[in-house]
Amino acid sequence: MNDTLDMTITKAEQSRLTVTDFSQLPFGKVFSDHMFIAEFDNGTWGNLQVVPYGPIPMSPAISALHYGQAIFEGMKAYRQANGKISVFRPEKNFERFNKSAVRMSMPEIPKEIFMQGIAALIDIDEKWIPAQDGYSLYIRPVMFATDPYLGVKPSDKYIFALLTTPTGAYYSKALKVKIETEYTRADDGGVGYAKTAGNYARSLYPFAEAQKEGFDQLIWTDAATHEFIEEAGTANLIFVINGKLVTPSVRSTVLDGVTRDTIIQLAKKAGIEVEERRVSVKEVIAGIENGSLTDAFAAGTAATVTPIGEIGYQGKTYKLSDPATRTISAGIAKTLNDIRYGLAPDEFGWNW
Ligand code: PMP
Repeated sequence: MNDTLDMTITKAEQSRLTVTDFSQLPFGKVFSDHMFIAEFDNGTWGNLQVVPYGPIPMSPAISALHYGQAIFEGMKAYRQANGKISVFRPEKNFERFNKSAVRMSMPEIPKEIFMQGIAALIDIDEKWIPAQDGYSLYIRPVMFATDPYLGVKPSDKYIFALLTTPTGAYYSKALKVKIETEYTRADDGGVGYAKTAGNYARSLYPFAEAQKEGFDQLIWTDAATHEFIEEAGTANLIFVINGKLVTPSVRSTVLDGVTRDTIIQLAKKAGIEVEERRVSVKEVIAGIENGSLTDAFAAGTAATVTPIGEIGYQGKTYKLSDPATRTISAGIAKTLNDIRYGLAPDEFGWNW
């Protein structure tokens, strides 16, 4: 990690900073001036480059397009109160990226390429990290198979890329979510714990169906029985039941979220009891009805904490407590954001 890797840096001739409206930042549409690329060939990673963001020419036969060897990650860089830039827990994303790689028969990326790639990209595009309150630079690592070969087998060639996109403040309105009991996101023995393209592709149709019924998001249940809660669309789920934080345990069908893990650690430190276990739909519905469930929220990199306002289940809608009364999740979200922006001590050493 101490050795600086060889990489070529080609600067953009003209920055797009001056023509970018930072008050209008739809998520993931505006990219910073540069991207980082590394190539895997003949069994090793090489050809490390920082280049202007733009198209990468490739064959329409690449196996990522046909057979889905494609994985990604998501994390954020923050401009701290003292002007320094910090990336939040990138090592967790690095570890999860390689877990996804192993499951998808893709080569692992060496830690120094992942970390030094991020550092080089942030160094050159530092001005793209907004200073406004609540803003950040979203970092998207991605790896995909580039063999122009139609045989079904693990590709011999891959591209690893890092893209960055400035994101605005996220105002999280309470969500109306549907407990999905027909479609499934992931099944035992499958790839649910991997951040791989197909998991997102398969969720689009059920999500669109739920939107037609007026829902903002889905709550996935287990494939075998549809009786246990797994996670939300692209976030983990956390409930407050009888004053305890209760969250479905991470298993092969659930993504091991960095935000979820962070919130668990912050809650424990604050003296809040945490239960990681199977959570049944029955328990959640009963908890809403008898008042023991006082809070429910989605936890993820995008919004940190998004309150759930209403839950739809088998044609009935259950209304949860007024988000304004939810002191536990609001308190944790504030602490977490304060740490990210350097406004609270980083006791866990999360800022890189
Ligand atoms: N579950 C899924 C399916 C996701 O896509 C995400 C977003 N990465 C999460 C949970 C939340 O993970 P994290 O807190 O690491 O962003």
